Amino acid sequence: MSGRWLGPLREALDAAPGRVTWFVRDDDGGWDDARLAALLDVADRHGMPVDVAMIPTETGPGLARELIARMDGSRLRVHQHGYSHTNHETEGRKCEFGPARPAGAIASDVRDGRRMLLERFGDRLDPVFTPPWNRSVPELAPALVSCGITVLSRDVTAGRLGHPGLREVPVDVDWFGGRRGVRWTREELGRRMATAVAAGGPVGLMLHHAVTPPEELDELDGLFALLAAHPAVRTRAIQEVALAA
Ligand SMILES: [Zn+2]
Repeated sequence: MSGRWLGPLREALDAAPGRVTWFVRDDDGGWDDARLAALLDVADRHGMPVDVAMIPTETGPGLARELIARMDGSRLRVHQHGYSHTNHETEGRKCEFGPARPAGAIASDVRDGRRMLLERFGDRLDPVFTPPWNRSVPELAPALVSCGITVLSRDVTAGRLGHPGLREVPVDVDWFGGRRGVRWTREELGRRMATAVAAGGPVGLMLHHAVTPPEELDELDGLFALLAAHPAVRTRAIQEVALAA
């Protein structure tokens, strides 16, 4: 697999006036543990930090033990991804914390999910929250803050909730992004990463291990190799990006 599609990204990094912060968020921890392990193996090979967004109801004790064991030799971090990854909307776009939910139900989902993940991960759980489908109503913000969550990560196109108790670290580039149901080509993806670098960063890349076929891990391997080796890149966990903001 040649890394030609990474050319524009390499050029953008070469031209960067300063260092560009880069983070990787992988969603849906709890689904397809074998694929999660395969992705984390690739990341670990390059010392790449990955923030895995864990679905509380899908995270069993075995998976938690495996991830905690891996943390000692890697830059793996875990945080909360909603509660059960359930779409509660009857029309329009899918959302776990959307307009169909009363504020009280949102608050109890956040609280219950956080309690479940704290039982699994203890102080290894970052105070970071990613809502499923990257969207939410503003009522999510006070629910997070009241549970001690201080960082929200959505998609950059979702805008900002602007709550004073929350730092926001949105993702910019979706590995599975596309237009009208057709995924971007690798070349388009590379150009998008280059554009995000040219904008100065931080650059957040969103992955979904459960739907990532093995052959795409080779492409991620090439990307992580470039990022790990390039002097203009500073790789960080979401929590570190939030603290530096
Ligand atoms: Zn998700």
